[in-house]
Amino acid sequence: MTVLLDDPLDAAALILAGELVAFATETVYGLGADARNGKAVAGIFEAKGRPHFNPLICHFPDAESAWAEVRPDDRARALAAAFWPGPLTLVLPRRADCRVDLLAGAGLDTLAVRVPAHDGALALLRAAGTPVAAPSANRSGRVSPTSAAHVMEELSGRIAAVLEGGDCPVGVESTVLDLAAGGAVLLRPGGVPVEAIEAVIGPVGRAVPLSAAAGRSLRSPGMMLSHYAPALPVRLDATEVGPDEALLAFGPPLRGAGTVFQLSETGDLREAASRLFSGLRTLDASGRRGIAAMPIPERGLGAAIRDRLARAAAPRHA
Ligand code: AMP
Ligand code: MG
Repeated sequence: MTVLLDDPLDAAALILAGELVAFATETVYGLGADARNGKAVAGIFEAKGRPHFNPLICHFPDAESAWAEVRPDDRARALAAAFWPGPLTLVLPRRADCRVDLLAGAGLDTLAVRVPAHDGALALLRAAGTPVAAPSANRSGRVSPTSAAHVMEELSGRIAAVLEGGDCPVGVESTVLDLAAGGAVLLRPGGVPVEAIEAVIGPVGRAVPLSAAAGRSLRSPGMMLSHYAPALPVRLDATEVGPDEALLAFGPPLRGAGTVFQLSETGDLREAASRLFSGLRTLDASGRRGIAAMPIPERGLGAAIRDRLARAAAPRHA
């Protein structure tokens, strides 16, 4: 059963216990999990019924706690001073000691961070004292919820709680700005107009046509994102393993495997999802010639795991 909470402290306690809690921000309701907890993060994708893993925005109570996980440059500091708390998300390089689970960032070396302008959200984030990964609190393919009642319609029975926070005043998602690659590139138009950003840091490149800013559905993340992909070739649904191959195991490993990374001994898809990106990275560094991935069932989170492996297996662009 999904409970409706009034106290941000109760919401923070549930998050720290690995549960999923939806909470209001000024943009839309987010579905939050402790970003350090891979299984909790996997639970977000499960609850949303997302058929793929995309990187999630991590939420912080202030800029200083965000800078503990990512490396800001002068532009990031200036933008944070101008627009945080507020509907601006910055994509920055992860620190080497970043505590955020790889699944929350979809395996990338970058992380999207933001400080929301909402008293309830800030109280929750302060009390939790952990980065909180939170995409919009809707089922996959549906519109983002802007009231606690919307969230209940979408996710009741699938998450632990909703922190009542009233109606979201902005109602569109945050602006996403990529500062990790040197330049500044707009990945998603949103609550902070790009002109206001340019007034602080100068010209911003566009990964999406600005006309999209007028539309409702602003995103096509698959087109805008460079996804993490291992350097080694990946072979799907392997039922035997070659002498040169490292094995990504799901359940009892195939006979004859030398280097093995176990996604889940017991066939738990949530555990497997939480270990997927660390598994690919580990095997990529194994010195073998390729990665053989054992079959993963299509159900639940299995669909997203298979999607990610299929992308890793696809031939690279020339
Ligand atoms: P949502 O959390 O559903 O509002 O969506 C998050 C948005 O931020 C998506 O459009 C993602 O593609 C984008 N995003 C999150 N993390 C990154 C990242 N590390 N690099 C690029 N884009 C990101
Ligand atoms: Mg969304």
